[in-house]
Amino acid sequence: MPALALLAEFLDTALNVVGIPDYPNAVNGVQLANAGDIQRVATAVDFSSDTVGGAIGAGANLLLVHHGMFWGGVQPIVGSRRQRLHALLSHDVAVYSAHLPLDVHPSFGNNALLAKRLGLEASGGFARYQSIDVGLSGTSDLATQALAARARALASEYRGQLVATPFDVTRVTRRWGVCTGAGADSSTLREAHERGLDTLIVGEGPHHTAVEARELGIVVLYVGHYATETLGVRALGDIVAKQFGISSTFVDVPTGL
Ligand SMILES: [Zn+2]
Repeated sequence: MPALALLAEFLDTALNVVGIPDYPNAVNGVQLANAGDIQRVATAVDFSSDTVGGAIGAGANLLLVHHGMFWGGVQPIVGSRRQRLHALLSHDVAVYSAHLPLDVHPSFGNNALLAKRLGLEASGGFARYQSIDVGLSGTSDLATQALAARARALASEYRGQLVATPFDVTRVTRRWGVCTGAGADSSTLREAHERGLDTLIVGEGPHHTAVEARELGIVVLYVGHYATETLGVRALGDIVAKQFGISSTFVDVPTGL
Protein backbone atom coordinates (compact mmCIF):
# COMPACT_ATOMS: atom_id res chain seq x y z
CA MET A 1 0.00 0.00 0.00
CA PRO A 2 1.47 3.34 -1.00
CA ALA A 3 2.08 6.33 1.24
CA LEU A 4 0.36 9.54 0.14
CA ALA A 5 3.64 11.06 -1.11
CA LEU A 6 4.19 8.22 -3.60
CA LEU A 7 0.63 8.32 -4.86
CA ALA A 8 0.66 12.12 -5.11
CA GLU A 9 3.90 12.03 -7.08
CA PHE A 10 2.30 9.63 -9.56
CA LEU A 11 -0.78 11.87 -9.89
CA ASP A 12 1.23 15.11 -10.16
CA THR A 13 3.25 13.61 -13.02
CA ALA A 14 0.34 11.93 -14.82
CA LEU A 15 -1.70 15.16 -14.68
CA ASN A 16 1.20 17.56 -15.33
CA VAL A 17 0.03 19.61 -12.35
CA VAL A 18 3.06 21.92 -12.55
CA GLY A 19 2.66 22.72 -16.24
CA ILE A 20 -1.10 23.38 -16.48
CA PRO A 21 -2.32 26.88 -15.50
CA ASP A 22 -5.43 27.15 -13.34
CA TYR A 23 -7.59 29.49 -11.26
CA PRO A 24 -5.93 30.44 -7.93
CA ASN A 25 -8.52 28.62 -5.81
CA ALA A 26 -8.01 25.33 -7.66
CA VAL A 27 -4.87 24.51 -5.57
CA ASN A 28 -4.09 21.38 -7.60
CA GLY A 29 -2.34 18.51 -5.85
CA VAL A 30 -2.43 17.44 -2.21
CA GLN A 31 -4.76 19.76 -0.27
CA LEU A 32 -4.82 17.83 3.00
CA ALA A 33 -2.19 15.28 4.03
CA ASN A 34 -2.81 12.17 6.11
CA ALA A 35 -0.41 10.11 8.22
CA GLY A 36 -0.93 6.50 7.18
CA ASP A 37 -0.83 4.56 3.91
CA ILE A 38 -3.51 4.74 1.25
CA GLN A 39 -5.55 1.54 1.23
CA ARG A 40 -8.57 2.78 -0.65
CA VAL A 41 -9.35 5.80 -2.81
CA ALA A 42 -12.70 7.58 -3.06
CA THR A 43 -13.38 9.90 -5.99
CA ALA A 44 -15.98 12.67 -6.23
CA VAL A 45 -16.71 15.68 -8.42
CA ASP A 46 -17.04 18.12 -5.50
CA PHE A 47 -15.52 18.49 -2.05
CA SER A 48 -18.51 18.65 0.31
CA SER A 49 -19.83 17.26 3.59
CA ASP A 50 -21.65 14.56 1.60
CA THR A 51 -18.61 13.44 -0.37
CA VAL A 52 -16.40 13.50 2.75
CA GLY A 53 -19.02 11.35 4.50
CA GLY A 54 -19.15 9.02 1.50
CA ALA A 55 -15.37 8.65 1.44
CA ILE A 56 -15.23 7.87 5.18
CA GLY A 57 -18.16 5.46 4.83
CA ALA A 58 -16.31 3.63 2.06
CA GLY A 59 -13.20 3.29 4.26
CA ALA A 60 -11.10 5.48 1.97
CA ASN A 61 -7.86 7.17 3.09
CA LEU A 62 -7.78 9.48 0.11
CA LEU A 63 -10.52 11.61 -1.41
CA LEU A 64 -9.75 12.60 -4.98
CA VAL A 65 -11.88 15.53 -6.23
CA HIS A 66 -12.25 17.87 -9.20
CA HIS A 67 -13.50 20.92 -7.26
CA GLY A 68 -11.35 21.06 -4.13
CA MET A 69 -11.45 22.28 -0.55
CA PHE A 70 -10.63 25.91 -1.44
CA TRP A 71 -13.04 26.36 -4.36
CA GLY A 72 -15.15 28.88 -2.43
CA GLY A 73 -12.12 30.99 -1.48
CA VAL A 74 -10.86 31.93 1.95
CA GLN A 75 -13.56 31.08 4.49
CA PRO A 76 -13.62 30.70 8.29
CA ILE A 77 -13.40 27.06 9.44
CA VAL A 78 -16.70 27.04 11.33
CA GLY A 79 -19.96 25.06 11.14
CA SER A 80 -19.98 22.38 8.43
CA ARG A 81 -16.49 23.40 7.28
CA ARG A 82 -15.13 22.61 10.76
CA GLN A 83 -17.12 19.38 10.98
CA ARG A 84 -15.88 17.97 7.70
CA LEU A 85 -12.27 18.95 8.47
CA HIS A 86 -12.57 17.25 11.85
CA ALA A 87 -14.03 14.13 10.19
CA LEU A 88 -11.19 14.00 7.65
CA LEU A 89 -8.49 14.39 10.32
CA SER A 90 -10.01 11.91 12.75
CA HIS A 91 -10.36 9.26 10.00
CA ASP A 92 -6.91 10.07 8.57
CA VAL A 93 -8.28 10.90 5.12
CA ALA A 94 -6.14 12.92 2.69
CA VAL A 95 -7.57 15.15 -0.04
CA TYR A 96 -6.12 15.57 -3.53
CA SER A 97 -7.67 17.90 -6.10
CA ALA A 98 -7.22 18.12 -9.86
CA HIS A 99 -9.13 20.83 -11.71
CA LEU A 100 -7.91 21.99 -15.16
CA PRO A 101 -5.19 19.32 -15.25
CA LEU A 102 -8.04 16.81 -15.17
CA ASP A 103 -10.16 18.72 -17.69
CA VAL A 104 -7.43 18.78 -20.32
CA HIS A 105 -5.76 15.39 -20.04
CA PRO A 106 -5.74 13.82 -23.54
CA SER A 107 -6.79 10.31 -22.46
CA PHE A 108 -8.58 10.47 -19.10
CA GLY A 109 -9.56 14.15 -19.02
CA ASN A 110 -13.19 15.25 -18.75
CA ASN A 111 -13.23 16.72 -22.25
CA ALA A 112 -11.57 13.75 -23.97
CA LEU A 113 -13.92 11.34 -22.22
CA LEU A 114 -17.03 13.42 -22.97
CA ALA A 115 -16.14 13.56 -26.68
CA LYS A 116 -15.53 9.81 -26.67
CA ARG A 117 -18.77 9.12 -24.83
CA LEU A 118 -20.67 11.12 -27.49
CA GLY A 119 -18.92 9.26 -30.32
CA LEU A 120 -16.98 12.34 -31.44
CA GLU A 121 -13.39 12.27 -32.62
CA ALA A 122 -11.44 15.42 -31.79
CA SER A 123 -9.05 17.04 -34.23
CA GLY A 124 -8.24 20.24 -32.36
CA GLY A 125 -8.66 22.29 -29.22
CA PHE A 126 -11.27 24.74 -28.01
CA ALA A 127 -11.96 27.08 -25.05
CA ARG A 128 -8.64 28.88 -24.72
CA TYR A 129 -7.44 29.62 -21.18
CA GLN A 130 -4.03 31.28 -20.84
CA SER A 131 -1.56 28.88 -22.53
CA ILE A 132 -3.92 25.92 -22.95
CA ASP A 133 -7.07 24.77 -24.73
CA VAL A 134 -9.36 23.42 -22.02
CA GLY A 135 -11.81 21.88 -24.50
CA LEU A 136 -11.76 20.01 -27.80
CA SER A 137 -13.19 20.49 -31.26
CA GLY A 138 -13.70 18.42 -34.38
CA THR A 139 -15.90 17.62 -37.34
CA SER A 140 -18.83 15.21 -37.66
CA ASP A 141 -21.79 14.33 -39.85
CA LEU A 142 -24.07 13.40 -36.98
CA ALA A 143 -27.65 14.63 -36.77
CA THR A 144 -27.75 17.18 -33.94
CA GLN A 145 -30.79 15.29 -32.64
CA ALA A 146 -28.74 12.06 -32.34
CA LEU A 147 -25.96 13.92 -30.56
CA ALA A 148 -28.53 15.42 -28.18
CA ALA A 149 -29.94 11.94 -27.46
CA ARG A 150 -26.47 10.69 -26.46
CA ALA A 151 -25.93 13.76 -24.28
CA ARG A 152 -29.38 13.29 -22.70
CA ALA A 153 -28.48 9.71 -21.74
CA LEU A 154 -25.36 10.90 -19.90
CA ALA A 155 -27.26 13.68 -18.10
CA SER A 156 -29.96 11.28 -16.90
CA GLU A 157 -27.37 8.85 -15.48
CA TYR A 158 -26.54 11.55 -12.94
CA ARG A 159 -30.10 12.75 -12.26
CA GLY A 160 -29.64 15.72 -14.57
CA GLN A 161 -31.47 16.89 -17.66
CA LEU A 162 -30.19 17.96 -21.03
CA VAL A 163 -31.05 21.54 -21.93
CA ALA A 164 -30.65 22.34 -25.62
CA THR A 165 -31.18 25.56 -27.55
CA PRO A 166 -33.86 25.01 -30.24
CA PHE A 167 -32.86 23.34 -33.51
CA ASP A 168 -34.53 21.81 -36.56
CA VAL A 169 -34.87 17.99 -36.57
CA THR A 170 -33.05 17.82 -39.91
CA ARG A 171 -30.06 19.77 -38.63
CA VAL A 172 -26.62 18.12 -38.90
CA THR A 173 -23.66 18.96 -36.65
CA ARG A 174 -20.64 19.56 -38.88
CA ARG A 175 -18.20 21.34 -36.58
CA TRP A 176 -18.46 20.88 -32.83
CA GLY A 177 -16.73 22.12 -29.69
CA VAL A 178 -16.75 20.48 -26.26
CA CYS A 179 -16.04 22.18 -22.94
CA THR A 180 -17.13 20.41 -19.74
CA GLY A 181 -18.28 22.17 -16.57
CA ALA A 182 -19.02 25.90 -16.86
CA GLY A 183 -18.17 25.71 -20.57
CA ALA A 184 -20.43 28.36 -22.08
CA ASP A 185 -19.82 32.09 -21.69
CA SER A 186 -19.48 35.06 -24.02
CA SER A 187 -15.81 34.35 -24.75
CA THR A 188 -16.31 30.67 -25.63
CA LEU A 189 -19.22 31.63 -27.90
CA ARG A 190 -17.06 34.24 -29.62
CA GLU A 191 -14.28 31.70 -30.01
CA ALA A 192 -16.74 29.10 -31.36
CA HIS A 193 -17.96 31.61 -33.93
CA GLU A 194 -14.38 32.48 -34.94
CA ARG A 195 -13.53 28.80 -35.31
CA GLY A 196 -16.65 28.21 -37.42
CA LEU A 197 -18.22 25.78 -34.95
CA ASP A 198 -21.97 25.11 -35.27
CA THR A 199 -22.60 23.03 -32.14
CA LEU A 200 -21.28 23.45 -28.60
CA ILE A 201 -21.51 20.74 -25.98
CA VAL A 202 -20.92 22.11 -22.48
CA GLY A 203 -21.76 21.44 -18.85
CA GLU A 204 -23.64 24.65 -18.15
CA GLY A 205 -23.83 28.33 -19.00
CA PRO A 206 -25.78 31.47 -18.14
CA HIS A 207 -29.09 32.25 -19.89
CA HIS A 208 -27.55 34.94 -22.08
CA THR A 209 -25.34 32.32 -23.75
CA ALA A 210 -28.45 30.69 -25.26
CA VAL A 211 -29.50 34.07 -26.65
CA GLU A 212 -26.03 34.85 -28.03
CA ALA A 213 -25.69 31.36 -29.53
CA ARG A 214 -28.92 31.75 -31.47
CA GLU A 215 -27.70 35.05 -32.91
CA LEU A 216 -24.55 33.27 -34.10
CA GLY A 217 -26.38 30.23 -35.53
CA ILE A 218 -24.81 27.95 -32.92
CA VAL A 219 -26.73 25.24 -31.09
CA VAL A 220 -25.67 24.68 -27.46
CA LEU A 221 -26.24 21.41 -25.62
CA TYR A 222 -26.03 21.99 -21.85
CA VAL A 223 -25.40 18.47 -20.54
CA GLY A 224 -24.89 19.38 -16.87
CA HIS A 225 -21.84 20.62 -14.98
CA TYR A 226 -21.88 17.62 -12.65
CA ALA A 227 -22.52 14.91 -15.25
CA THR A 228 -19.78 16.12 -17.61
CA GLU A 229 -17.23 16.19 -14.79
CA THR A 230 -17.92 12.73 -13.36
CA LEU A 231 -15.96 11.21 -16.25
CA GLY A 232 -12.44 12.36 -15.35
CA VAL A 233 -12.39 11.59 -11.62
CA ARG A 234 -13.93 8.16 -12.19
CA ALA A 235 -11.27 7.32 -14.78
CA LEU A 236 -8.50 8.71 -12.57
CA GLY A 237 -9.69 6.58 -9.64
CA ASP A 238 -9.49 3.47 -11.83
CA ILE A 239 -5.98 4.38 -13.00
CA VAL A 240 -4.71 4.91 -9.44
CA ALA A 241 -6.36 1.68 -8.27
CA LYS A 242 -4.70 -0.30 -11.07
CA GLN A 243 -1.31 1.37 -10.63
CA PHE A 244 -1.09 0.67 -6.88
CA GLY A 245 -3.22 -2.47 -6.57
CA ILE A 246 -5.75 -0.75 -4.31
CA SER A 247 -9.50 -0.18 -4.69
CA SER A 248 -11.39 2.90 -5.79
CA THR A 249 -14.99 3.98 -5.15
CA PHE A 250 -16.90 6.80 -6.81
CA VAL A 251 -18.99 8.85 -4.35
CA ASP A 252 -21.93 10.01 -6.44
CA VAL A 253 -23.51 13.22 -5.07
CA PRO A 254 -25.36 14.81 -8.01
CA THR A 255 -25.99 18.53 -7.70
CA GLY A 256 -28.91 18.62 -10.15
CA LEU A 257 -26.97 21.10 -12.29
ZN1 LIG B 1 -16.21 22.32 -12.90
